[in-house]
Amino acid sequence: MKNAERQTRSFLMKLFAEHGFHPRGDLGQNFLIDLNLMEFVVRSGGLQPSDVVLEIGAGTGGMTSMIAPHVSRVLSIEIDSNMYEIARETTAPFENVTLLRTDVLKNKNRFSAVVVETLQRILAESPDPVFKLIANLPYNVATPVMSNLVASDLPWSVMVVTIQWELAQKMVAKHGESGYGALAVWLQSQCQVKILKKVKPTVFWPRPQVDSAIVRLEPLENPPAKIDDRRFFQDFIRRLFSQRRKLLRSVLIGMFRKQLTKPDVDRLLVDGGFAENARAENLDISHLVALSNRFRREIAGTSSDILGEDESEESIEA
Ligand code: SAM
Repeated sequence: MKNAERQTRSFLMKLFAEHGFHPRGDLGQNFLIDLNLMEFVVRSGGLQPSDVVLEIGAGTGGMTSMIAPHVSRVLSIEIDSNMYEIARETTAPFENVTLLRTDVLKNKNRFSAVVVETLQRILAESPDPVFKLIANLPYNVATPVMSNLVASDLPWSVMVVTIQWELAQKMVAKHGESGYGALAVWLQSQCQVKILKKVKPTVFWPRPQVDSAIVRLEPLENPPAKIDDRRFFQDFIRRLFSQRRKLLRSVLIGMFRKQLTKPDVDRLLVDGGFAENARAENLDISHLVALSNRFRREIAGTSSDILGEDESEESIEA
């Protein structure tokens, strides 16, 4: 029997009982036990022999083992030493699997250095690699993992992830909709984001409280607008949406208080065709990119040409 075929509820319960440990809720340890669905996730990545796949959260190694036969290399990350030991045994037959026992994140804004270095080494060793992220993501790191990959210079081509349904809805929300925020803008400004399936809690063990979604992201070939400075834009929209109900004008005056006067802000808004009563939540992505570019150019060359360096370690929250 192949390893992935064993990941059923009874198999997992027995495995955990034998090892004398319990799934950790704080680490998002909800394992996929519907093997058709696991196959669906893997198939949705359109795997090819030259692919290099990053999986975050190896768990028991069930999905890792399902991916490995189809691709050139798999790098799978696992924070929990119990899970890591099990995944090591499960994936031992696959020479193309590299397992790392570490937190995937250094902080909310950065992947851990060892993850990036190992990935870069694997990509450099692989002939014509196509890099993909396939993961049943732990809920606690899902947003930073996706945001950081989009922000990074890593050459990703597809992400297929299982995440909480509510998060998926925030990722696809359009302007004027309730979930529309910095995450939707950040992702949709650079990616096509598509919910492939809604999935019930019963497909996991232990069962989570909420529905989940399988989501596919691809970089956009023709983004709606060109972002001059992605780091600036990421910070800009995070700050705008942290006060989403306030008038755009007053948020911008506060945001650029060190670099621009009120008349400067008014002029930039009028020149850009933004209404006096505009709010971030009602602006579409092209307008937000245009606004960010406009302010970026205006403050270029001022003493602090990036928004308050002191605060820029904040990340985009869902
Ligand atoms: N891939 C398996 C599956 O599909 O059944 C397990 C997925 S489970 C939802 C998420 C896994 O991510 C858990 O094994 C958990 O220990 C691990 N994990 C949680 N936080 C992590 C982090 N910050 N870095 C790396 N792994 C993490």
